[in-house]
Amino acid sequence: MSTYDLAVVGGGPGGLAAAMYGAMRGLSVVGFEAESFGGQLINLYPSKPVTNFPAQAYVLSRDLALRLAEQAAGFGAELREWEPVEHAGPSSDGFVLRSAGLETTAAALVLALGLGRFTPRRLGLDGEDRFLGRGLAYRLPPIEEIDARHAVVVGGGDTAFDTALSLQRVADVTLVHRRDKFRAYAHSQQRVSEAGLNVVTGGEIVELLGGDHLESVVVSLADDRTVELAADLLLVTIGQVPDMSGVKSWDLGLGGPHIEVDSSMRTARPGLFAVGDFAAYPGKVRMIATAAAEGSTAAASVARLLHSAN
Ligand SMILES: Cc1cc2nc3c(=O)[nH]c(=O)nc-3n(C[C@H](O)[C@H](O)[C@H](O)COP(=O)(O)OP(=O)(O)OC[C@H]3O[C@@H](n4cnc5c(N)ncnc54)[C@H](O)[C@@H]3O)c2cc1C
Repeated sequence: MSTYDLAVVGGGPGGLAAAMYGAMRGLSVVGFEAESFGGQLINLYPSKPVTNFPAQAYVLSRDLALRLAEQAAGFGAELREWEPVEHAGPSSDGFVLRSAGLETTAAALVLALGLGRFTPRRLGLDGEDRFLGRGLAYRLPPIEEIDARHAVVVGGGDTAFDTALSLQRVADVTLVHRRDKFRAYAHSQQRVSEAGLNVVTGGEIVELLGGDHLESVVVSLADDRTVELAADLLLVTIGQVPDMSGVKSWDLGLGGPHIEVDSSMRTARPGLFAVGDFAAYPGKVRMIATAAAEGSTAAASVARLLHSAN
């Protein structure tokens, strides 16, 4: 079992800032993120130009997320990506967390859960469970592991476009989108058009066909015709849904989507702090800069707490 001064759950801007400022203050820090670092910046709006972060007149959200993670790691925080915390509760020395089948203890805990864990939005079709991992995926696997000839990508945002462009190196790709306009940025659309990918707009996948493995998909078109597309790989990239329900079973008394904190980011439970969108107090503003500032406040509070205990 590993032991730290501070454990941070959530790797959005609030959690990354708490990890960074904690490490900067000389604390041993571990940070857990269920997905890739960046929180909403990566999962909800990866290609948005962020124009309101101080001293950054223009920065793409995914670049800002990357820089925050690099900065926290640079100060010595141990950051664990793709490692959801499944359970957290009090222990004799502070808190105990369970993730990836292992336990971690920490004297103090910062919750930076944002809107919750992101899970992929599903198509809602029969056979979706059956073909999951057998041709159907919600995230792009490592490109070198892909053994597919005909890939279909569903979605109209930047993730769908990035996925289609990556897949095009190893398979022939059709992009299917249910609307006739795309949400993806103009430069992504330009790249897809230059790459000459097949694009079906006004189309909805209505059936998945195959035996042990996915073989094709049936697409319903705007004019009520249906077409069957060969597909030994179907990538569904139609968004992420945040889910906070898991934390209710943690032994920390967490109930709702927020937790009350004071001006030091302390919760009612000694040693437990919260920052970012998950933390609530009068006058709260939910923004990247405030999440980062709260991370700094929480780290200072943790350092004070631990130093006064020594
Ligand atoms: C569409 C949109 C556009 C926005 N644009 C802007 C903008 O331009 N400027 C601005 O200032 N703000 C913007 N915001 C708001 C800003 O993104 C949020 O205020 C900010 O992301 C909050 O950061 P956070 O760290 O609290 O939470 P989040 O960014 O939500 O990060 C929380 C992280 O915790 C992780 N997590 C949750 N549960 C667990 C668990 N059990 N184990 C491990 N990890 C877990 C999640 O996976 C997630 O990555 C926007 C929000 C939206 C929805």
